Amino acid sequence: MSQSRLKSCIPLPIDHKILVSVIEKAKDWALMHGVGMRDKKHFNKDVIQIAPFVLLPSPFPRTEFNKAVELQPILNELMHKVAHDDEFLEKTLQNALQVDEFTANLFDIWVKVREEGITQSLSFGLFRSDYLMQRDGNRIKQVEFNTIASSFGALTSHLPSMSRYILRQLGHGDLIKNMPENRALSGLCTGITDAYDLFGVPSAVVLFVVEEVSYNICDQRFHEFEISEKRPDIMIYRKTLNEIYEETRLNEKKQLILEDRPVAVVYYRSGYEPAQYPTSKEWDARLRVEKSSAIKCPSIHYQLAGTKKVQQALAAPGVLEKFMGAGATTGRVRDIFAGLYSLDFDENGERAVDMALADAERFVLKPQREGGGNNVYGADIRDALLRMRHSRERAAYILMERILPPLVAGYVVRPGAAVPPPITDLVSELGIFGVIIGTKDKIYCNKQVGHMLRTKLADANEGGVAAGLGALDSPYLL
Ligand code: ADP
Ligand code: MG
Ligand code: MG
Repeated sequence: MSQSRLKSCIPLPIDHKILVSVIEKAKDWALMHGVGMRDKKHFNKDVIQIAPFVLLPSPFPRTEFNKAVELQPILNELMHKVAHDDEFLEKTLQNALQVDEFTANLFDIWVKVREEGITQSLSFGLFRSDYLMQRDGNRIKQVEFNTIASSFGALTSHLPSMSRYILRQLGHGDLIKNMPENRALSGLCTGITDAYDLFGVPSAVVLFVVEEVSYNICDQRFHEFEISEKRPDIMIYRKTLNEIYEETRLNEKKQLILEDRPVAVVYYRSGYEPAQYPTSKEWDARLRVEKSSAIKCPSIHYQLAGTKKVQQALAAPGVLEKFMGAGATTGRVRDIFAGLYSLDFDENGERAVDMALADAERFVLKPQREGGGNNVYGADIRDALLRMRHSRERAAYILMERILPPLVAGYVVRPGAAVPPPITDLVSELGIFGVIIGTKDKIYCNKQVGHMLRTKLADANEGGVAAGLGALDSPYLL
């Protein structure tokens, strides 16, 4: 078998008639179990359609999957330490802050909160570390580490069950043993309730910070349903940053008060991109929350630690050792890093620019942004770098080695698309969820809680599911 192609879990193609029938079943399964989304094109709050999904679970080497799972608590702790190293964060971000207003605004909040004195020393992260396999040897490489609004924990928790149903309908129930269970939803929700209990005020509530319109509503609501089921004592509110501005206040104890009750935990499912702060009110709301005693998921320094710039800085010589010492674990973490290069306005940055101009296809150019659709690829990298070559603007970006994952053939089922879909070449991105709660000096909880697999057409640069490019999937371990 060639290294650049993995074999699908059952031989393809599937007979036309069987395929059509099983896709109909799978779509109904998806709809009836909430593997759904709201339609962006024809928005109607009352209508949920299927989320795009891959019909068969995509193959993933077991050793690499286990490696990612084992590394998660180590990465959680690393990010926790990074976020609590004021000097490192400041030094790492300083050049980007000069030219990136959004990151600068986040950073300003962090400075203001520290100046005023931290009211809540606990940090709470629901993280997701993402990986693509490098086809030369099929080893995982980290794409990025998400510290805010890490999504699809709920939807992908349903996926193994859906894949099992599909495999049984296709007469391949014997393959189910190779599909790992995924308890991301309950793990993430336990994080929220653990943080709630650490807050320790019985009348307190939980606040989800949401977009004006939530397309990925199923994923978010399942968290609420799960918490409500397990902890009927906890009331959850969903508010936009604008509503938080209008409806909350800080009391004399710096509690964030919503409907006369203190907020114990603020869980951000919005607030990670500039468009989510259209006016100064949203920024004021964010500052108010950060100043409050509520436990923030994430607190502002976790969000800053999740920037691409920090990811790049961690890959520089000696930096991992500073945070983790020089042992074998450090080597294991370094091993998952792809090539990452600063584009700062200095000698190293100059070298990186030359390297990228010489062979743009080898790289991805990344700004300090989240949520997909922001990176620059291929010939556009050349254009962007030629434009920014003599400008400090380029410090807002990092350069990353492009990871080329192995291909697998499969069927992607999309809402409204013709059935059956053609067989297409796909690539998968694995995400591992982590939960951490702790103060600078004491960690109360640090664990790996589940995974997600997201698969896209092999020739698409990005595979955001909410953006309509990627499809939900679950790993079939080889
Ligand atoms: P975001 O925070 O916007 O999700 P990512 O770093 O995850 O930013 O990039 C978005 C997508 O771009 C990834 O999901 C992946 O599909 C693609 N991508 C990012 N970095 C690389 C890389 N080094 N090699 C190949 N593809 C990449
Ligand atoms: Mg991200
Ligand atoms: Mg990403």
